[in-house]
Amino acid sequence: MHTYQLFIDGEYCDPAGGEWFDTVNPYTGKAWARIPRGGKADVDRAVAAASRALTEGPWATMTATARGKLMRRLGDLVAANAESLAATEVRDNGKLLAEMAGQVRYHPEWWYYFGGLADKIEGAVVPIDKPDLLTFTTHEPVGVVAALTAWNSPLLFIAWKCAPAIAAGCTVVIKPSEFTSASTLNFMALTKEAGFPDGVFNVVTGFGAETGAALVEHPGVAKVTFTGSDTTGRAVYQAAARGLKRVSLELGGKSPNIVFEDADLDAAVAGVVSGIFAATGQTCIAGSRLLVQNSIRDAFVDKLVAMGRTAKIGDPMQADVNIGPVTTPPQFQKIMDYIDIAKGEGARCVLGGRRAEGVGLESGQFVQPTIFVDVTNDMRIAQEEVFGPVLSVIGFDTEADAVRIGNDVIYGLAAGVWTKDIGRGLRMTKALKAGMVWVNTYRAVSYMMPFGGIKDSGIGRESGMSSVKEFLETKSVWISTSDAVPANPFIQR
Ligand code: NAD
Repeated sequence: MHTYQLFIDGEYCDPAGGEWFDTVNPYTGKAWARIPRGGKADVDRAVAAASRALTEGPWATMTATARGKLMRRLGDLVAANAESLAATEVRDNGKLLAEMAGQVRYHPEWWYYFGGLADKIEGAVVPIDKPDLLTFTTHEPVGVVAALTAWNSPLLFIAWKCAPAIAAGCTVVIKPSEFTSASTLNFMALTKEAGFPDGVFNVVTGFGAETGAALVEHPGVAKVTFTGSDTTGRAVYQAAARGLKRVSLELGGKSPNIVFEDADLDAAVAGVVSGIFAATGQTCIAGSRLLVQNSIRDAFVDKLVAMGRTAKIGDPMQADVNIGPVTTPPQFQKIMDYIDIAKGEGARCVLGGRRAEGVGLESGQFVQPTIFVDVTNDMRIAQEEVFGPVLSVIGFDTEADAVRIGNDVIYGLAAGVWTKDIGRGLRMTKALKAGMVWVNTYRAVSYMMPFGGIKDSGIGRESGMSSVKEFLETKSVWISTSDAVPANPFIQR
């Protein structure tokens, strides 16, 4: 079994406490590697290294252009190692190789895009309203960034969080999920090979309440960027507030996928299936509430059930498998609990609703793709994030109803709309309270487009040009061009 090490100040090293824990392959149910249990001493060392790199050594004086070149080199190295990185992701999180390989092959684009942006972060000369002054602004890195990531797509989250942070000139300490730390540690070798100076990237693995909390609370951290559940996000926000740190939170969702009677129904079925069953439903943007116009509801559900029945459940490494295991035992239990809750609330299960069993499914935790009808929007199954392959179907009559039901939830991450009426599509993009709205597509993401939510789905945006601002401070510079001494030094100029 491979034994991993922490990555601090450009070197792999053992945790100060000398403890490791197992990481488990969700398909086989077997431990396959040992992950270091980082503690406060390791966090202290990592933040100290990241702080030093900000103020001393080559990173502190490197031009933004040179920074961008390193980032592009890192992108090339990720592309060259995509296969093995993707295989590690699958071994740790159980998601389909087809999806993880696609994600890792796409990952370099973040380094290319933000690497190109690094030397285009410009201040402005301000035409000040006072005589004899030259005034301008500069943008400086906010400082050491703590990046905490969830278990579903660890490498993608590194790109989303670190590419803009590094473009801004920050240094980072990453704390991946305790369930899926291996790929993040592997990735660090590539940052070294690319030539990043020591201390720019650091990784401290360990448990949330221990290692994660120590990192968020560390006084040397200036900014916290977090992806995870809204419960943990609240705790992280409170801890960061005590240190007056800047915070971005990418949290959960209960996104409506809304199908009107005039939609291309085959495309909509495919979009709804991909929205809820891809990645075994373990995505923050899962379209877990299907809002379907009552005039087509039953026929549409029949099509969905028929497609859901074709899903092959099994080994995520196999190309013909559609649904892999649930990543963690607690998550599996949570999904099964929600299926019971839905049944108890009176929702009717028309597909799945059980643990998936059979040949090849003996060791992992598999859930059948599940669809509930007769759901009302006040039920827990319609309001709470399951993070599994469980769809709640809710009927509606009018466009206004769809908007009202769609928005009647604490979350506001994403929404989907299926209609051939362009006017209706546009009205819906405006009316839906969500950070992202897809029309006649679902689950599309790009390094160019801001990603993030409103309401309880979080604060701030990742990806897109403006995300670099999350990692910058503005400095205002005032220079007098006059030789004269102020006439009255006791009043403000
Ligand atoms: P989680 O909240 O349990 O953990 C996220 C990270 O926080 C992990 O690294 C964990 O170790 C750490 N952590 C836990 N407690 C902590 C504490 N007290 N202080 C500091 N760090 C702590 O989330 P998860 O179960 O890994 O991921 C699933 C959740 O993530 C879902 O709710 C999902 O919707 C959300 N998610 C959101 C997005 C998004 O971009 N909006 C993307 C993927 C997942």
